[in-house]
Amino acid sequence: MEIKSILTDNFRVCYFCGRPKQHTHHIMNAANKKKSEKYGLMLPVCFICHSKIHDGTSDDELNMLVVRQLGQQKFEEIYSRELWMQEFGKNYLMED
Ligand SMILES: [Zn+2]
Ligand SMILES: [Zn+2]
Repeated sequence: MEIKSILTDNFRVCYFCGRPKQHTHHIMNAANKKKSEKYGLMLPVCFICHSKIHDGTSDDELNMLVVRQLGQQKFEEIYSRELWMQEFGKNYLMED
């Protein structure tokens, strides 16, 4: 499978810290994993940053919600809010 991301062209290093890439993080996971791949909602990550995203304790950028907001924002720049809602059904940007 060809790995692509709408957030970076550099899949050799971790998106967050620049260490060598070890994993690929799917921004939308579980049932939406395939859609993540389809739309490039993926990030190259190192083991350490990847664990932090998934362990749910980080309140900085290494946080599942923050990473999803990043993905949704970029997605909407390329496609649209309508398509995001159609595909993922939830607005993570929480604008009022
Ligand atoms: Zn990292
Ligand atoms: Zn992950």
